[in-house]
Parts: sequence; structure tokens; C-alpha cells
Amino acid sequence: DRPPHLHRNFVYINNGDDIASIPIRVMQWNILAQALGVGVDNFVRCPLEALSWSRRRSLILEEILAYRPHILCLQEVDHYYDTFQPVLANLGYSSHFYPKPWSPCLDIEGNSGPDGCALFFDESRFELLDSVNIRLSAMMIPTNQVAVVTTLRCRSSGRYVCVAATHLKARSGWEWFRSAQGSDLLWHLQNLVQKLVGGNSNVKVPLLICGDFNAVPSEEVYRRFATSPLGLDSAYKKLSQDGVSEPEYTTWKIRGTGECCCTLDYIWYTKDTLRVDAVLDIPDEEQIGPNRLPSYSYPSDHLSLVCDFSFREKE
Ligand code: NDP
Ligand code: CA
Repeated sequence: DRPPHLHRNFVYINNGDDIASIPIRVMQWNILAQALGVGVDNFVRCPLEALSWSRRRSLILEEILAYRPHILCLQEVDHYYDTFQPVLANLGYSSHFYPKPWSPCLDIEGNSGPDGCALFFDESRFELLDSVNIRLSAMMIPTNQVAVVTTLRCRSSGRYVCVAATHLKARSGWEWFRSAQGSDLLWHLQNLVQKLVGGNSNVKVPLLICGDFNAVPSEEVYRRFATSPLGLDSAYKKLSQDGVSEPEYTTWKIRGTGECCCTLDYIWYTKDTLRVDAVLDIPDEEQIGPNRLPSYSYPSDHLSLVCDFSFREKE
């Protein structure tokens, strides 16, 4: 009597040559904080029972296990210590977690602690070089939003990759704030890669930035990432016919205040060092269903984004 999972297919990107090595699978997902989902989100078309932690916990873990990413970036994690850290450690993942300084979860009765960003990586594939937790600033002022930035070394190729997981400020009216937070993150990443190459500007460090940016593609923060000197591109554009448009939505929900169907989540990658080999498609309206997300079939209001990447050959 279990509802069917959303069935999604990988779309393989024609790169002109075959894939030499096993690609790096990356998953980006705002899993919906348990405290926020039952406490403040007011998902009026989702039965409370579908939001129970026991159901959602299973569905979230099943989704992760279905795709088995080598790198997993999660937002709104309010069950890190009691669930994700131990369960995923048993599956061979190492991880870092940074809770928000003033998580809105803490205002909700029966909460399980603050929510934050978590970054997991498959220890058989990568070796940890360094991980830093960053509290994002906006115009030099520390904010309530964070990022986890982990630098890894691929065990088979020896190549480095720097990965960030972040969750920018929500709500309309805060576009300038998100832009400032995005600039701060880009600044941190620029410094990190510069330190890594030790001033040798010929060496380029592959970067992956995964996040719930809370920004549609027309926002300034999106433009800042798309035009950054780091040379970033958004992986999910590969799904579109023309290769230049983002999907129509990465989140679709109905709150008391109305329906929200928009693209807020992204996987950014450095296009001169990484290549997108495959992208997990976005379920269509019929698959998502009339009550939208979350639901008995899917545990979050945000869809997971999953991509396969390969390192480009060094020049
Ligand atoms: P944000 O505006 O970034 O939102 C926090 C969370 O609310 C996000 O996870 C977001 O989810 C979700 N959200 C967005 N829109 C809605 C909505 N319409 N209904 C329900 N949930 C929504 O918050 P901040 O991190 O800036 O923190 C704000 C809260 O934190 C305050 O309400 C306060 O409780 C607390 N706070 C307390 C401070 C203190 O000094 N005690 C200081 C600062 C904050 P998504 O990203 O998926 O949209
Ligand atoms: Ca949310």
C-alpha cells in the first residue's frame, strides 16, 4: 500500500566521446526541515501524516540510496546527529554540518535542533583535504545563512575538487541580500582556490557549488554566479532543448498563501575543468500530482537535483 516513488530518468549529455572513467555523481537537495514542514510551512494540500518524521525519514534515505551520489549536499537538515550522520557514515560517507546561527526551527515546539547545511562525500572515492564552515555575510554584516565548503582529492585520478553546499535567505524583498550573500560565497571560494594553487594561475581547481539559492534565474545572484570570473555554469541547463534555459521548476508547493512553482535550486560547476555527462530529469506535472509537494510519494517541497560529472583533460 505504499505510494509509488517519482520515477525519474537520467538524460545523457552527448559529449562527442565516450566516458573514460566512472563519473562523479552529485546530488543537491533541500530535504525540508522536519520542524519547519510541520510547524510553519502550512502545506495545505499535504496530509499531516505524510509529513511524519518516520515516513519522511524513510523516503529521504531511499531517495539518497536510489542514486548513491559520491557527493551529497543537503539543506534544511535538522536531523543530522540522530539520522543522516550515523546512517550515511555506515554507508561509507564522511560529512560536515553547519547549523544556521538562529535556525527558525528553534522557534517551533518539539523541534529537533537547528537546521543547517550538510555536505557528505563517499570516502572510497574521495579523500578529505579540508573543510570549512562559512557564515555568509551581506555587506560585511554576518547573516543567518551558511555554507559548508569541502576540498576533496579524487582517489583514482588524484585530482582536486572543491565543493560548496549553501542555502541563501528566503522570501521576496530580499533579492539584494541574496546577491550580497552570493558575492560573499564567491569571494570565499576565490580565496580558497587561490590558496590551493599557491599563486600558480595556470592550475585551475574544479568547483561545484550546490544550493537552494531561493532565487529564480532572473535574479541578480544568479547573474553574479553565471558571470563570475570563476567560470561557472549551471548544470541543469543541459536538460533544456536549447541548453541555455533552467528547468521550469525545482520546487512546487501549495501553501495557505498560494501555489509556488519555481526554480530556486542549482548545481554550479566550473565549465573548463568539469563536464556534465548526465542529468536526472525533472518529474512532470502529472507525476508530481494535483496536491504538489511534499506528498506521500515525495518527502520535500524541493526536488533533488542529480548530475554526473567528469574531469576535463588538463590542457
Ligand atoms: P529565511 O527567510 O531564510 O527562511 C527560513 C526558512 O523558512 C527557510 O528554510 C525557508 O525555506 C522557509 N520559508 C520561506 N518562505 C516560507 C514561507 N512562506 N512559509 C514558511 N516557511 C518559509 O529565514 P532566516 O534564516 O533569515 O531566519 C528567519 C527566522 O529565524 C526568524 O523568523 C526568526 O525566527 C529566526 N531568527 C532569530 C534571530 C534571533 O535573534 N533570535 C535572528 C535571526 C533569525 P526555503 O528556503 O525552502 O524557502
Ligand atoms: Ca523550506
